[in-house]
Amino acid sequence: MPDPTGFLRHERRIPTRRPVPIRLNDWREVYRDGAEALVREQAARCMDCGVPFCHQACPLGNRIPDWNDLVRTGAWAEAADALHATNNFPEFTGRLCPAPCEAACVLAIPGGPGAVTIKQVEVEIANWAYAAGLPPSEPAPPTGRRVAVVGSGPAGLAAAQQLARTGHAVTVFERDDALGGLLRYGIPDFKLEKRWIDGRLAQLSAEGVRFRTGVDVGADLNVDELRAGSDAVLLATGALAGRDVPTLPGRELAGIHLAMTHLTAANRTVAGRPPATRLDVSAAGKQVVIIGGGDTAADCLGVAHRQRAAGVAQLDVYPTPPGWRDEARDPWPTWPWILRTYPAHEEGGERRFAVTVQSFVDDGHGAVRAVRIADATVSRVDGTRVIAPHPGTERELPADLVLLAIGFDGAEPGPLLDGLGLTRTARGTLGCGPDWQTAVPGVFVAGDAHRGASLVVWAIAEGRSAAAAIDAYLGGTSGLPAPITPADMPLTA
Ligand SMILES: Cc1cc2nc3c(=O)[nH]c(=O)nc-3n(C[C@H](O)[C@H](O)[C@H](O)COP(=O)(O)OP(=O)(O)OC[C@H]3O[C@@H](n4cnc5c(N)ncnc54)[C@H](O)[C@@H]3O)c2cc1C
Ligand code: SF4
Repeated sequence: MPDPTGFLRHERRIPTRRPVPIRLNDWREVYRDGAEALVREQAARCMDCGVPFCHQACPLGNRIPDWNDLVRTGAWAEAADALHATNNFPEFTGRLCPAPCEAACVLAIPGGPGAVTIKQVEVEIANWAYAAGLPPSEPAPPTGRRVAVVGSGPAGLAAAQQLARTGHAVTVFERDDALGGLLRYGIPDFKLEKRWIDGRLAQLSAEGVRFRTGVDVGADLNVDELRAGSDAVLLATGALAGRDVPTLPGRELAGIHLAMTHLTAANRTVAGRPPATRLDVSAAGKQVVIIGGGDTAADCLGVAHRQRAAGVAQLDVYPTPPGWRDEARDPWPTWPWILRTYPAHEEGGERRFAVTVQSFVDDGHGAVRAVRIADATVSRVDGTRVIAPHPGTERELPADLVLLAIGFDGAEPGPLLDGLGLTRTARGTLGCGPDWQTAVPGVFVAGDAHRGASLVVWAIAEGRSAAAAIDAYLGGTSGLPAPITPADMPLTA
């Protein structure tokens, strides 16, 4: 029986972050582990609501009130089982998820005492499970059916684990030299140390999943060979086509890069891997301008400070969001548009809102010297975004390194899609039917490749759901959970 008055006795508290001057000297995670007493106290704030909106807002359908109560009583093993029942990788979501569950928590209603620290409870359960060794599941009798998963991000890995646990022979193909998708070389260690990925991969290997890295499917392994070696294929290839600004004057200048070029180089250096580019994309000693306002931009900011940039400015075309939920626009329990301050923002740099980039300025030797910006207003005309610069507000920001963190244009075109005869939707994604099957029979899709650039929690939910569909395709029926359909979207008003 949960504690119905816990939230009256305990305020919302989260563990402290490591001090900025210390954490900038390394790449380790920003947050300290939560003390057990604090985590149990915070879990006791959960009321076990009759209608748990936290659960509704989570694409995975995580049984949040259940594991909150188990943590409150110190039943860590049972809490880990309850958490793993709906989420293959809570060590990823506990660290990375923006936590739509917390925005939807009943305690987060406007004027309320503040959401249960669901994400913190989740990560501590995940840490407990990791310390306990993440034992592999009991093997299921082999079905004799083979599944090829292309892409080793959270969608591909979640599907692979689910399918292997039902007895299918699963091989994951990854073109990078290491597994994990964007979690490996996109997201920096200060948000997710890579030991968490490695620990989970060891479990998947022990459960029979085979991995082949350095294989660009479509190029290194042609599609006919892939299909001949498998009874079903899952495309979990992400939405990695970086959005660019090819028509902006000066884009061709040296020193202007897509954010992923910079992040991948930094992450590879931290991992002790050889560089993937010869370009000088380090921020060391440079004036850095990051264009974009999301997760990727914040990650570039944290990396730039750790590389000892001389100065960093982050530009966002949208106005400064409000500091609190605007009930008229985003009523509880939907995800609110508010000013999000990531740990990277408290490490330095300057954020500029409501500005648009007009051109990049040449230093006279073919490299960027400055970014020319102007104040701007964004509006929607017939559903299309229109950016109107304010005349007379043009000015220059010094820049030796410019990072474009303005999003992704969907699945990458190339030999894999060509070989399968698949085309992208107008959004650049790969379409599918209600059973996650693309227009090509036996070829399924999940994660960012299907949804467009999204979140880890949606990628895992899509991977789990597509696995259930593949299992049914191979065996007629499936007992695997399918938390979402391809058409499901975040909670909206
Ligand atoms: C910088 C950055 C920061 C982010 N931060 C967060 C965050 O804090 N929280 C959050 O929830 N989400 C975050 N995201 C989003 C999140 O990382 C993605 O939504 C998620 O990783 C998508 O998972 P996925 O499995 O669909 O694809 P991905 O993780 O993109 O993995 C796809 C994999 O497929 C491989 N691949 C592609 N084509 C082929 C081929 N032909 N052959 C073999 N392999 C192939 C790729 O190399 C890649 O490894 C961030 C994204 C970025 C870019
Ligand atoms: S909505 Fe909040 S208080 Fe209610 S069950 Fe979920 S976490 Fe607990």
